[in-house]
Amino acid sequence: MLKKEQIIVELMNYGLCLTSKALDYIVKVGINNEDLEKLGKIVKELKPEIFIISEDTVKDFIKLEEIKGENSNNLLLKVYEKETQEQISPTDTSSHLNAREIVSDIEIISDPSGKTMGGKDIDDFLHYFRDRFEKLSSLLKMRRDVEGYIPIKAVKNLNTKDEIKIIGMVKEKRSTKTGNIRFELEDLEENIQAFTTDKIPESKKKAERLVPDQVVCTTGRWMNNRFLVANITWPDLPFKNQKNRAKEEVCAAFISDIHYGSKKFDEEAFKNFIHFLQGKNGAEKLAERIKYLLVVGDVVDGVGIYPGQEKDLKIPDIYEQYDGIARLLSEIPDHIQTIIIPGNHDATRQAEPQPPINKKFAKSLYELPNVHLYGNPLQLKIHGVNVLMYHGRSILDDIIGFIPGLSIDKPAETMKELLKCRHLAPYFGGNTPTAAGEEDMLVIQSVPDIFLTGHAHVNDFSKHRGVFLINTGTFQKQTDYQKSQGINPTPGKVSIINLKTFKITLIEF
Ligand code: FE
Ligand code: ZN
Repeated sequence: MLKKEQIIVELMNYGLCLTSKALDYIVKVGINNEDLEKLGKIVKELKPEIFIISEDTVKDFIKLEEIKGENSNNLLLKVYEKETQEQISPTDTSSHLNAREIVSDIEIISDPSGKTMGGKDIDDFLHYFRDRFEKLSSLLKMRRDVEGYIPIKAVKNLNTKDEIKIIGMVKEKRSTKTGNIRFELEDLEENIQAFTTDKIPESKKKAERLVPDQVVCTTGRWMNNRFLVANITWPDLPFKNQKNRAKEEVCAAFISDIHYGSKKFDEEAFKNFIHFLQGKNGAEKLAERIKYLLVVGDVVDGVGIYPGQEKDLKIPDIYEQYDGIARLLSEIPDHIQTIIIPGNHDATRQAEPQPPINKKFAKSLYELPNVHLYGNPLQLKIHGVNVLMYHGRSILDDIIGFIPGLSIDKPAETMKELLKCRHLAPYFGGNTPTAAGEEDMLVIQSVPDIFLTGHAHVNDFSKHRGVFLINTGTFQKQTDYQKSQGINPTPGKVSIINLKTFKITLIEF
């Protein structure tokens, strides 16, 4: 039984205090440590505005846990309804069909499967960077505020101190002795050194957010052989996006980072999720609308992904890992179409864009009639809704460390930066291995309605210029490595979106 001091300390970890009545009540009923952690987590999630726990909150929590205990087979599962529903015109008569009676509608927009490998010689890199520059600069040129830009080679002969605009790829970025930022901008012909100055503090703030190898438009003045930065413009998304919505009330569920084969794979939560899809686990009304399951990589834990992985594996054989997850997925009702892209733990090339999971290792997945395997990233339309799926390695491995103010607990904020850059892994020489093919397939060309990533193992949601951003979460409990890195995964949380109303329901299995 926990002592008062232990209870106080444990809840302080969640930034929570207790009233003395609440503390007495916890001691009286004898909550164990695990439940106390749950209490902290639930209060943080459901009532983030609360920082003092009352006796009533404790009682509510115990009730909730009792319900779960009694009907452990029959959910619940905490269902959170997000404030995301869009206004649907009243003339719209929504059908209440079961997804089983609806024909699936999948259209692939872009998939790296079978595309050139590349990255072998210097020519490949030249092609690659030229293509990246051309694609990103043409996205920039669609912006009104970029009008009137001049090529970099024209800058050095200028006789004016007026403001000019140039488009370039950021090549090197470092701090100057005066605490400003200096970076190189390069177009297809020339390069130039750009400097922020104390006179325009905004320019420094913006330059701090620059990631190498991305393409931006920079406004500034050419003075004393230096380009002094006044403003920086990212390609970003247009404000007015065409929103695609399904005509029927069908739903899609999004998951990733199952890490099957890991000792920390949360089998119970995953089975609860499958039972839910079968309509056996509560929330049947929602379950019967699900037509699509999108899996954003790291289906298995893999083998030899990091040094010493053997000790973290329950199933050390890659074939058995894929056989095992295929067995679980085979229990999903066959009218649900499952789309899988690989992550960095899956058996395929690591360099992005990644080919689909290798058939040789995952034969049993390929044999499932309603499972479809593609490369990473994948852009597709499901029931008319444009979805961009990217495993998300660059988020955690590169971008979070580069841009001030980003955190591993809020991956959706980092996803926004990718949309602003219009590139899924802007930093070429970082920790995200990139294959320099002839074409840069990581440029975000088509504006999605939904942008999905995984890899961060934290369920998170945000919106950027009308686009819904979802980091899917995980089915793996916290590993020792994650603990050492301060990563707090959210295993068992699944986002389900209604493709007509765009209402998101988050269920914790
Ligand atoms: Fe993962
Ligand atoms: Zn990953």
